[in-house]
Amino acid sequence: MKRAVGIGVDIGGTFTKIAAVDPRGRLLALSEVPTDPQKGPKAFIVRAAEAVRSLEHALGRKGDAVGIGAAGDVDSAGGRLRFAPNLRPFEEFPLRDALSRALRRPATMHNDANSAAWGGFVIELKRGVRNMAAITMGTGIGGGLVLDGRLYEGSTGSAGEIGHMKVFPGGERCGCGSKGCLEAYAGRHAIVRAAERLLAEQPGRKSRLRALPGKLDPREIAEAASAGDALAREVWRGVGHALGLGVIDLVLLLNLDAVLIVGGVARAGALFLGEIERALRESPFRTPCGRVRVRIGRTDNLGALGAGLLSLEGRR
Ligand SMILES: [Zn+2]
Repeated sequence: MKRAVGIGVDIGGTFTKIAAVDPRGRLLALSEVPTDPQKGPKAFIVRAAEAVRSLEHALGRKGDAVGIGAAGDVDSAGGRLRFAPNLRPFEEFPLRDALSRALRRPATMHNDANSAAWGGFVIELKRGVRNMAAITMGTGIGGGLVLDGRLYEGSTGSAGEIGHMKVFPGGERCGCGSKGCLEAYAGRHAIVRAAERLLAEQPGRKSRLRALPGKLDPREIAEAASAGDALAREVWRGVGHALGLGVIDLVLLLNLDAVLIVGGVARAGALFLGEIERALRESPFRTPCGRVRVRIGRTDNLGALGAGLLSLEGRR
């Protein structure tokens, strides 16, 4: 029998990535289309279905099922987005069933970070742990949980909002409106803000960041830190400290085997992983904090791969 192929469709605010994946998580083909949410969900479904067909044409075979991952609060039972600041025109539209009809095959739909967590569980951890969390680092901080070997989505599909756990209650203002969230310390804007603040507060302190034109971005701050810039290194230690507090809370609640940190900003992982590990070592809860392994994910497009893998779950 031919091995199954899943098609993952990872819908972001700007681009939608489409991946064909085998049951072990190997990427077979990848493409990308603009999401253009303002053109509406029906036009998007037509565009996405066309892109899936041309990917399959290039691959030389059809996928058996299609899985959507989407940024926002996903009703995974109903197959739609309930709340999605970056995909407003798609809210409440039955994306899953529409894509299933357009492609004439079964479809699933989950939150993008939950999809990435599942991708990380299968691809990075080879299903070798029982309990894990993934933290996705990008513009926002997302999260997903795999507990007892299954994706855990909670009562309404909303579990795993790790970015909005309060690591410093009353602290920095977060994009969500509350204060002290992990995202307000480790999200893309927070990292840039921390660097700008250090530069402004310590005008006499030397840093190569001062010479960079325009607005800083995390990649530049990572490059400076890797080159030994002390101020830039301090920024990443702050990121690691906040992540460490978040990881400890996750471990105390869930007694995890592993935490996988993924996403674009996680490429700077070498600059903050040590700080997370230090926080864990200093926790008085030695057994669970000693047990958990924190890893930086190395696979690109985990959201699309995980969505494709989730479409195959139950078919294995
Ligand atoms: Zn928040």
